[in-house]
Amino acid sequence: MIYPIVAYGDPVLRKMARPVEKGTDLTELVANMLETMHNADGVGLAAPQIGLDLRLFVVDGSGTEDEVLKPFKQVFVNPQILDQAGDPWGYEEGCLSLPGIREEVKRQAKLRIRFFDEHWQEYEAEFDGLRARVIQHEYDHIEGKLFIDHLSPLRRRLLNGKLNDILKGKAKADYRLRYSSAKR
Ligand SMILES: [Zn+2]
Repeated sequence: MIYPIVAYGDPVLRKMARPVEKGTDLTELVANMLETMHNADGVGLAAPQIGLDLRLFVVDGSGTEDEVLKPFKQVFVNPQILDQAGDPWGYEEGCLSLPGIREEVKRQAKLRIRFFDEHWQEYEAEFDGLRARVIQHEYDHIEGKLFIDHLSPLRRRLLNGKLNDILKGKAKADYRLRYSSAKR
């Protein structure tokens, strides 16, 4: 099932998400999130982006041409970033909840993370480069943060027009968006 993707402006994107209750059957939710993400040509999707304030995100780079991301497919449940290291480096990011916006974001190069997969198997692993970046972007979502929060006040201000268009429901995307006003 393809969910509409929650657009910028919905309070669920600004909430600290709750841990998933251990043992919950995630088969259907994860399959639906992957389907939703593939349909929108995304590389990552976090539960708040489909309106659920849960600490869960999925990553799948198989649709990209990037050799580092292409084989990277993983479900992260109740993840905990244990450590981040390395010089911050810049890369242009986008977000399915912020259609039409792409900006360079600086993030640390490496991280160590503990997480469960959708079968409740626990892992601790290190990631670097683009894989670390995708994880950091999605992890921000479950902390109620968005990539535009990392921009300087000036660059953020320059985006006001585009952000207002999203708030007004005027942004265009090739997938279905859910605007916060639609709930009222
Ligand atoms: Zn995002």
